[in-house]
Parts: sequence; C-alpha cells; structure tokens
Amino acid sequence: MKYLEQNKDITSLSNFKTPAVARYYFEVKSNDDVDKIFDVVTFAKNENLKVLFVWWGTNMLFAFDKFKGVVIKNCLEWWNYNEKSKILKTSSNDNIREIAESLEKDYGQDLWHRFIGLPGSIWGAIFGNAGCFWLETENNFVSAKVLDLSTGEIQTFDKQQMIFSYRTSLLKQYEWKYFLISADFDLSTKVEKYHSDVDNLYFREHKQPKWNTCGSFFKNPVVSLEWFKRDYPDYYSQDMKLVSSWFLLENSGLKWHRIWWAFFSPLHANFLMSDWSATSSDLLDLIDHAQKIVFNKFWINIDNEVRIITNF
Ligand SMILES: Cc1cc2nc3c(=O)[nH]c(=O)nc-3n(C[C@H](O)[C@H](O)[C@H](O)COP(=O)(O)OP(=O)(O)OC[C@H]3O[C@@H](n4cnc5c(N)ncnc54)[C@H](O)[C@@H]3O)c2cc1C
Repeated sequence: MKYLEQNKDITSLSNFKTPAVARYYFEVKSNDDVDKIFDVVTFAKNENLKVLFVWWGTNMLFAFDKFKGVVIKNCLEWWNYNEKSKILKTSSNDNIREIAESLEKDYGQDLWHRFIGLPGSIWGAIFGNAGCFWLETENNFVSAKVLDLSTGEIQTFDKQQMIFSYRTSLLKQYEWKYFLISADFDLSTKVEKYHSDVDNLYFREHKQPKWNTCGSFFKNPVVSLEWFKRDYPDYYSQDMKLVSSWFLLENSGLKWHRIWWAFFSPLHANFLMSDWSATSSDLLDLIDHAQKIVFNKFWINIDNEVRIITNF
C-alpha cells in the first residue's frame, strides 16, 4: 500500500525505549491523512494484520522485537483557547502537559493546573480518563470528534455518550473501534468531585522518576480483605475498595529491584524503569517476578495498568 513505510524503527515510540521495528508504519500528520486511516485499517483487516495506534507512548510497553502488523502514529497537533468563551479546542495528539502549562502562563487560566506534569496526549487522557490528584479529564469535557474505524464515519460524542468513570471511557470500552480526532473542553467553571491542595509540581519533581518509564505500572487492585483494611488502613481506599500497589511493591522489597536492565525506581516502587540497553524481555521478566513476589507475600494479584502490546 502506497502510504505505508516498511520495517520502520519504532524504538522511540514507547517511553520504555526497548528496541522495536514495525512491519508497516503510517503517520497521521494532517486532516488529509485522517481520511486515509480508514483505508489503512481496511488494508490491515484484509491482510489479517493487527493495527496499533501510538500517540505519546507514555502508557505502553512493546513486548516484541518486530511488530508484525501496522503501526499508525498520530502526529496531529494544534490547539486553541478562546479567552472570552473559555472553550479549549484540542486535536487528539496535543500534549496535555504543554497545554496546561501554556493555559496558565499565557492566558492566566489555571483550571488545568493539576495536569501540569501529566505526560501523554489528549487522546490518552480521554481514553483512560486520566486524573491527577482528583482532577479528571472528564471534568470539563464537552465533546469529541471521532472516526469510527469500522464504518469510516465521523461522529461527535458528548460527555454523556463518553461514559467516563475511574480511568476509563467509552473509547476504552470499545477498543480499536474509534480514532479520536479532536476534543473540546469548557474551562469556564471549576468542576471537581474531590478537592486537593497537593503541590503537584513538587510531587512530580521530587517523588516521581523521569525518563524511561510509563508511570505507575500496576493498577491498584480492587479487594475486600478485612485483615488488610485492619492492618494497613492508610493504604486502603474505603470509597473505591482499592489497595495501593505502591504499598504492596514497596513492602515486598521491590523498590530498586533489578533484572538485567529493567528495575523499579528507587523514588517510587510502582514505577517500572528501563536502562538504555533494556529489552522487552528484561521488563517482562521483572513484571512476572514482581507479581509472584507480591502474591506470595500478600495473596493479592496485581495487574498491569500500562498496556503490554504483543503481536497476538
Ligand atoms: C511519569 C509518568 C507519570 C504519569 N502520571 C499519571 C497520572 O498521574 N495520572 C494518570 O492518569 N496517568 C499518568 N500517567 C500515564 C499516562 O500519562 C497516561 O496514560 C496518558 O494519558 C497516556 O497518553 P499517551 O498519549 O502517551 O498514550 P499512548 O501510550 O500512546 O497510548 C495509550 C494506549 O492507547 C492504546 N490505543 C491507542 N489507540 C487506540 C484505539 N483506537 N483503541 C484502543 N486502544 C488504543 C495504545 O495502544 C496504548 O496502549 C503517567 C505516565 C508517566 C510516564
């Protein structure tokens, strides 16, 4: 197919930077390219090839050396903020951290202050309803324009249709059905379920590692264990019935634990990291090891929040 590059090095596309190549590769740089996505996806379907969309790659681990399907990299970036109406219009690959910083610096608009330091794209934030200290992407969301990958139609979804809840949305529930093109937010009113006075800039700077990581690797597991609530009340959220994965890993001695070039950060036990020479198997071995150690100590299973992308 004429739009596609072959055997493209995609190492830099995941934040873990493990060596990886894609059999086919396509970049979406303009609205004209959006029209081509449906053709590329249809080609992949006809050839029985898997499709992988990549945005900022801050939430995915490539568990392969060569991806046997088609990688589609979104490069759509433009956004604007109307100071009068306070409506923010974004394209899906805009970086949410950069927007939040510019809103504050250039427009004195601080409603997205807690997103300063949140890596990734508008897509990633909407897809997983990303949240920082209780500010969630859904809060000021108005609508999104999406491409339906099965029909090629462009549709608009409002907030109700997006069915947001904790770290999820319609887009996550119907995986690979939609490609997000753009989204609008209304920043005229503060909307929050819970308030937080956390200094997120200090927290990001001092409590979280940077570079080759995809943030918290494991989800906080949902459990209802009486002994855990009794013995560790500070690490159990009554509202959401969640146990802190950070606590489980830290207390299983996994902080700073290393297998070859993969390790858990000394700053935050739930941040899986890779050195520059790490391969995906170093990371996968460490993930497997951590799950076993935590289970042996606490009898709790921990699952990955970061998506592990395979060829199957
Ligand atoms: C240092 C650090 C700190 C972080 N802190 C936070 C935090 O505080 N709160 C928080 O919520 N998150 C946090 N994250 C996680 C990350 O910022 C978010 O998950 C982000 O929204 C991901 O955006 P992205 O553009 O990088 O997505 P990508 O990683 O590029 O993609 C996200 C996933 O979407 C999948 N995907 C893409 N297109 C489709 C499609 N059409 N259908 C189905 N699946 C698709 C991809 O395969 C991928 O698995 C942190 C990450 C890092 C590195």
